[in-house]
Amino acid sequence: MTFPSFVDVAIIGAGAAGLGAAHVLQGSGLSVIVLEGRNRLGGRAWTIQASPEVTFDVGCGWLHSADRNSFVPIAEQLGFEINRDLPPWRDRVVGNAFPQGERDDFLRAMDAFYERLWQAAQTGRDVPASQSLEPDNRWNPMIDAISTYINGCELADMSTLDWDAYEDSNINWRVRRGYGALIASYGAPCPVALNCNVTLIDHFGPRIRLETSQGTLTADKVIVTAPTNLIADEAIRFSPQLPSKVDAARGLPLGVDDKVMLALDDAETFPKEGNLRGATMRTAIGTYHIRPFGQPCIEGFFGGSFARELENAGDGAIAAQSIDEIAGLLGNDIRRKLKPLAESRWASDPFARGSYSHALPGHAGDRAVLAAPVAERLFFAGEATSPEFFTTAHGARDSGERAAKEVLAALARG
Ligand SMILES: Cc1cc2nc3c(=O)[nH]c(=O)nc-3n(C[C@H](O)[C@H](O)[C@H](O)COP(=O)(O)OP(=O)(O)OC[C@H]3O[C@@H](n4cnc5c(N)ncnc54)[C@H](O)[C@@H]3O)c2cc1C
Repeated sequence: MTFPSFVDVAIIGAGAAGLGAAHVLQGSGLSVIVLEGRNRLGGRAWTIQASPEVTFDVGCGWLHSADRNSFVPIAEQLGFEINRDLPPWRDRVVGNAFPQGERDDFLRAMDAFYERLWQAAQTGRDVPASQSLEPDNRWNPMIDAISTYINGCELADMSTLDWDAYEDSNINWRVRRGYGALIASYGAPCPVALNCNVTLIDHFGPRIRLETSQGTLTADKVIVTAPTNLIADEAIRFSPQLPSKVDAARGLPLGVDDKVMLALDDAETFPKEGNLRGATMRTAIGTYHIRPFGQPCIEGFFGGSFARELENAGDGAIAAQSIDEIAGLLGNDIRRKLKPLAESRWASDPFARGSYSHALPGHAGDRAVLAAPVAERLFFAGEATSPEFFTTAHGARDSGERAAKEVLAALARG
């Protein structure tokens, strides 16, 4: 598409949030453009064909709270088959590395921790979630590891009230062709300028002026959906400055979660949809999904400081670590059956700088601060602004819809 010099509404970011906003504005009669720094749609939703047999969601994979997830009806409309099998997170254990008795003990300790965390939230004090750990409980490091998978950070960095605000219906489904592929397909009809990095939002004059890698354009309204770490680092700057937005973004940093995909030879000798994890008393551990959708592969997942450490160790470090860990759990023989296909590096990704947002202790209120419009001209969306489905792709999409409706309401008020 030709790059316009003026639009009614500019949307920054073609992730789930930006595309959700663009859908609402389609047919409104307004001129709209989505400005996207990458060369593709989807942002943190990204499906790749890791090999001819293996489809890999490098970012989001699960339709969380699927009974309330707005991407479920969209998937149905777009002809994307939904897999409703329950995830293998608590059962379907492969191997003997984590014997059932130990596993039951761990699950009891974890459930008791979440009950204490819930009780702590009822007091209204926004303390670190780690304060709800039972001192000296032997499972604490593993409970912390689970936090790194869910929140992208250790419990010490996690706000108790933010944890409580998240609405989890415990129903998690998947899209066979990939969640990223679904979101890219959802975005296909939207007017998007790719490879368009926005560096400055100048909202001083009567029209907002955007400086981008493709030139300057002006807009009456702007919806910002860039991830919090980019706002916090001022990779995208406001003029005049908006310290309340930068501070809110800093209170909601993106934690880190990374995935690795390994090809698995002799796959038929392994169960489909299995779960592999060791009973190691460490937080620095991966968790593995054996043969997702029956594919000949193992998908590994790392979170928090350990994921950051592995990214810093360079390309291939996540795959090497996962092969070592899997060999430790299932025996050395499996090494020759595993071959690295792909791994993510979300903390090093210049347009994400992390995986998903968590509120630091004391900062649960920052989501509402970040979401609030400025002077009926600047609007904010993105997973971090969702009041109840933050961290998720559907929360991001719904927030884009909310911001676009705010734009329409502001225009209606004149
Ligand atoms: C490893 C991993 C696993 C995940 N698992 C799940 C899961 O199972 N289920 C789930 O629901 N969610 C999951 N998520 C989270 C989910 O992917 C995100 O919450 C969601 O995709 C965020 O959408 P968004 O639109 O808010 O942000 P993004 O997808 O990050 O979109 C923002 C867009 O803005 C662009 N951008 C940034 N800066 C600029 C700029 N200056 N100029 C122009 N464009 C810019 C970016 O390139 C990006 O495309 C996962 C994420 C990761 C990383």
